[in-house]
Amino acid sequence: MKITLKPSLRGTKADALVLGFFDHQKPADHPLFASFPAPVKTALKTWLGKKDVQLDWGAVHVLHLAQLKQAVVILGFGKKNEWNLRRHRLAARRVARLAHQHRWLSVVMPMQKIDAATVGALAENMILADYDFVAFRKAPKEGWPTLKVVTVVTKETVTKEISAALKKANIVAEATNMIRGFANIPGGTMTPTLLAQEAQTVAKQYGLKYSVFSKAQMEKIGMNALLGVAKGSDEEPKFIMLEYRPRRDPSSRKRGGDGIDLAFVGKGVTFDSGGLNLKPGNSMQEMHMDMAGGAATIGAIAAIAQLKLPINVVTVIPAVENMVSGSGFRPGDLLKSLSGKVIQIDNTDAEGRVILADALTYTLKEFKPKLTVDVATLTGAALVALGFEATALFTKQDKLRNIGSDIGEVSGDYVWPLPMWEEYAPMVKAQFGDVTNSGKIRWGGAIEGAMFLAEFTNNKPWIHLDIAPTMSSAEGQQLAPGATGAGVRWLVELAERVASGTLQA
Ligand SMILES: [Zn+2]
Repeated sequence: MKITLKPSLRGTKADALVLGFFDHQKPADHPLFASFPAPVKTALKTWLGKKDVQLDWGAVHVLHLAQLKQAVVILGFGKKNEWNLRRHRLAARRVARLAHQHRWLSVVMPMQKIDAATVGALAENMILADYDFVAFRKAPKEGWPTLKVVTVVTKETVTKEISAALKKANIVAEATNMIRGFANIPGGTMTPTLLAQEAQTVAKQYGLKYSVFSKAQMEKIGMNALLGVAKGSDEEPKFIMLEYRPRRDPSSRKRGGDGIDLAFVGKGVTFDSGGLNLKPGNSMQEMHMDMAGGAATIGAIAAIAQLKLPINVVTVIPAVENMVSGSGFRPGDLLKSLSGKVIQIDNTDAEGRVILADALTYTLKEFKPKLTVDVATLTGAALVALGFEATALFTKQDKLRNIGSDIGEVSGDYVWPLPMWEEYAPMVKAQFGDVTNSGKIRWGGAIEGAMFLAEFTNNKPWIHLDIAPTMSSAEGQQLAPGATGAGVRWLVELAERVASGTLQA
């Protein structure tokens, strides 16, 4: 999608002219009204003057004026004092989805007011909403609907900040769409091996170091928790690592010696049947997306590399398939994890935390990051708690919790914190092992998952994002069905703050 900013409507050609108005706003109050085509001016004056015309938030009117070749879209912005960045993002997405519906290749949008944040959000969300998962379908003769050209018209000066925001939005949204593509691939195709190949391709494209451990290497290292989960599958597990080290010191041979600022650990369960604690049919439907956390960490590091942020970042993805077979792990199994702690398996469907235990242990020990963030579709309980609109954020550090929420608002990748008080610690006490992967209490399952992971973080600065709520798109979000790419925008915003020194773990 090509997005350009222009000072005037004159000379712009597009399939649709998109205009947003607040409730009861007079058309002439639009700062660019004078430059609207004459038929639009006339139509707006008579039409918007009618009593029954609704400009409530979310209202959409598509007008076809006889004298104009292009469609005219009127978006209701609702009450002016209720307008915010969240609505702005949804409005931007709505335009892209409308373009798909009407097969408009280009739109022109005279804006009432812009700044770097709003232009960035506009571009990012239009690109996100332009994505459809079509890789497995035959293209129609006329091609897939796609919005190719967006012209933003504004009276305001296009500053350096605005141009930079536009560039960043493009990088982040494209990286997000790329990994939505990975997450949408069906489980029968998306295996740990394919995920590793995708990561390798991304590494080549953006100059990242790629490495992978095979099953034999994992056995040698002692990743028995991860291997335990992988046992039931015919697919070999992969331990995938990507490194972005712009500050690499060539004289430093030791891994981590040149200082890792940020580590991302992403859950990569390429299909989750639940294992012997088999999921009921409906709950298994989207389980090819149980690697969405791993995919998000790939998207984030790819974007960070393109943005050339001056920090060292690693991405670690334990990739397995959780299947049912005679060789699979069993409830009651006691797995000696890489940390030395013995994990008691009380539910084979709580496998994500088990593979993350080894991944977190390895990451902290080998890379010694200043801050670690894991991203995982970890618990249905997080979905029960938050619905579809927010990722659950967990950390034991108050400062990181507050910053985390703010990063959600600024990036549009919304998160909401849940507690990790010590009162919850008994939830993960095991009868025979050191820690159970599934406690006896049914309630607070998202917190239980976080308390389990904390057992493997040695009290180092760490944030856990449970993206189970935001993994796939929901009604009203103006995104194509399937993966949303949750986590990418949040991780990139976090990295920017680490890079600029505004966030120190
Ligand atoms: Zn599971």
